[in-house]
Amino acid sequence: MEIFLDIDGVILDFESSFIAHIRNNHIPELPKDYLPKSWEMDEEFSQIRIKEVWDEFVSIDSFSELKLLVDQTSFNQLSSQYALHLITNIPKSLFSKRVKNLKSHALNFTSLEIGGHFNFGDEDYPVKSVVINKIRDHRKKIVFLDDHPTNCYDVKSRFPDSIVFLMSRPHNQNQKDHHWIRVANWMDFLEKLKEIS
Ligand SMILES: [Mg+2]
Repeated sequence: MEIFLDIDGVILDFESSFIAHIRNNHIPELPKDYLPKSWEMDEEFSQIRIKEVWDEFVSIDSFSELKLLVDQTSFNQLSSQYALHLITNIPKSLFSKRVKNLKSHALNFTSLEIGGHFNFGDEDYPVKSVVINKIRDHRKKIVFLDDHPTNCYDVKSRFPDSIVFLMSRPHNQNQKDHHWIRVANWMDFLEKLKEIS
């Protein structure tokens, strides 16, 4: 098998840094333990212009200094056993910042690709199943992990034989589970992976 991993909400903690940025610069009263309940940031933060704040955040150093949600040792151990392909849903212009962020954590992986359900207005932007189809080894079973149900649905529909995992996050708690396996965190993913391999 070979493994395809999402980055934000799975490997890197975008949310915490982004919310800290909002608190420090725009909404000082935002509680320290605030957790977003929705994917739609403009619903969460209707009092600010969220698109502008997002653009502001990705332009500063903090965006390439996101913290890990995985532990580096087990991640690199997994990458010594299987091909690990990372597919990240960011604008193409932010690719080098993402590389810098991953390098700073000394993570080993096979490839880094851009793709996802949100296309940032770029009509050539691929969904994740298109990226997987392009880079996959057809002899190997696909294992996929993402925290966005739309990406999980995309991959499972295109590759019915794949094994798809949804990383549980506050904003997908109420999502009805389809043909994927919900995991609580990185360690839970590793354990469930062991059971199927
Ligand atoms: Mg994600």
